[in-house]
Amino acid sequence: MEAKINEFMEGLKAKTPGEAEFHQAVQEVVETVWDTYDANPKYKAAKILDKMCEPERTIMFRVPWINDNGEVEINRGYRVEFNSAIGPYKGGLRFHPSVTLSALKFLGFEQTFKNSLTTLPMGGGKGGSDFNAKGRSDNEIMRFCQSFMTELCKHIGPNTDVPAGDIGVGGREIGYLFGQYKRIRNEFVGVLTGKGLEFGGSLIRPEATGFGSVYFAQHMLAENNEKLKGKIVALSGFGNVTWGAALKLTELGAKVVTISGPDGYIYDQEGLNAEKIDYLLDLRASNNDVVAPFAEKFGAKFFPGKKPWEAKVDLAFPCAIQNELNLEDAKMLEANGCKYVVETSNMGCTADAAFYLVDAMSFAPGKAANAGGVAVSGLEMSQNSMRYNWSAEEVDAKLSRIMKDIHDTCVKFGTEKGHINYIKGANIGGFVKVAEAMLAQGCV
Ligand code: GLU
Repeated sequence: MEAKINEFMEGLKAKTPGEAEFHQAVQEVVETVWDTYDANPKYKAAKILDKMCEPERTIMFRVPWINDNGEVEINRGYRVEFNSAIGPYKGGLRFHPSVTLSALKFLGFEQTFKNSLTTLPMGGGKGGSDFNAKGRSDNEIMRFCQSFMTELCKHIGPNTDVPAGDIGVGGREIGYLFGQYKRIRNEFVGVLTGKGLEFGGSLIRPEATGFGSVYFAQHMLAENNEKLKGKIVALSGFGNVTWGAALKLTELGAKVVTISGPDGYIYDQEGLNAEKIDYLLDLRASNNDVVAPFAEKFGAKFFPGKKPWEAKVDLAFPCAIQNELNLEDAKMLEANGCKYVVETSNMGCTADAAFYLVDAMSFAPGKAANAGGVAVSGLEMSQNSMRYNWSAEEVDAKLSRIMKDIHDTCVKFGTEKGHINYIKGANIGGFVKVAEAMLAQGCV
C-alpha cells in the first residue's frame, strides 16, 4: 500500500510542482482512503482519485484598484472550482498575503470533503487574493472588493458557484462584494453567503464555524464521558472563527485562557467573558492589531513571538491558519496534559502533528470540526432559495444536528480497536459520497 501511495503522490507532484500545501492536503486524504479506493474496481477504473486531485476549473485574474493616495495597486485574484459532483461549488474567499494557487488548491480540495460531510448538496471551491487588509481604510477595502467582483461575477452564480468569507473576508467584505455583483448582473440572488441579515444573510452564520467546532468537541468529550464545563481551553487567532468558539465555550462553562495574533499570544488567567469578547470584536473591525491592546486593557499576559500551545490546558482549538501547530507543539500539549485538539482552522496542524495527535489523544481534523461554517452557509442558500428566514433557534438546532451527523460519520468510518481515528473517519466519510456521485455522472 505504501508503495502505491508513494507512486500516486510522485505522479501528483510531477504534475503540480511547488504546490507544497496542496500536496500535504492530498497526502493526508490519500493515506486514509487508499484501502477504500483500492478495494473498489469501479473507483480505480474511473481514476476517481486522480480526478479528485484535478480542479474542474481554475480562474486567475488581475485585480487593479486605486488606493487613498490615488496610486494604482495590483493584486492577483483566484477562484478554484474544485468539484461539483454533489452540488454547486461552495467555499470561502480568503484575502491574505499568504494566498497562492497552492494554498487555494489545498483549501478547495479540503472543502470538497468537508462539504460532503455536512450532508448538504454542496460541491467544493475556494478563492481569494493576496490582498493585505492591514492598515487599509474602509474605502480602500470597498474599492478592492468591487474590482475583485467585477471579474469574479463572470464565473459565479447561485446555481454555479457560491463563495463566502474566510480569513480577511467577513460581513463587511461580503456586503461590498454582493453590492457589486448585484449592480453588474442586475440580479438579487443568493450568490454569496455570510451576507448581512438585512439582505438575505442567515442568523448564526457569523458564529457558525466556532459554534460548530464546540458542538463537535462536546461529542468528542462525550465519547469519554466528559463535559466542557470547567475545562481550560487554548484558542489561537482572534478572527471570525475564534470569536464564535470563545462565545460558545464560555457559555458552556469552559474557561478560555488564550487568543493569539501574528505577533504572539495572550494568556488570561481569569478567562474570557462576554465583555472581553465584545471588545475583541470592536478591535477586529479596526483592521489593526488586536492582541497587544487586549492584553493591556484587561491586564492579561502577552507572550511575544510565542504560540498558545505552550499553555497548560485540557483542550486546544487551533483557529488561525494552516500549519499553525507543529509536531513540537503537539508533544508539548500532550506533555502538559491536553487531551483534545479540535482543529478549527483548515489544516491547522502540520501532517506529522496531526498523525501524532490522532494516536496520542482525541484529535478532530478541520474538515470535520470546522464544517459548521459552511453548513450554515448551505442553510443560508436554502433560505435564499425559499425567500424565507429561519429563526436563530431553528438554524442553531440544524447546525447542532449536522455536527452530530458529522461526528457519527467519523465514528462509523474511523473506529479502530476502540479508538476513533477522526482523520480516517472524516476522509472516508467525505470521500465515498463524492466518489459515488462522480461515478454515477460518468466520465466528466
Ligand atoms: N471559509 C469557510 C470554510 O473554510 C466557510 C466557507 C463557506 O461558508 O462557504 O469552510
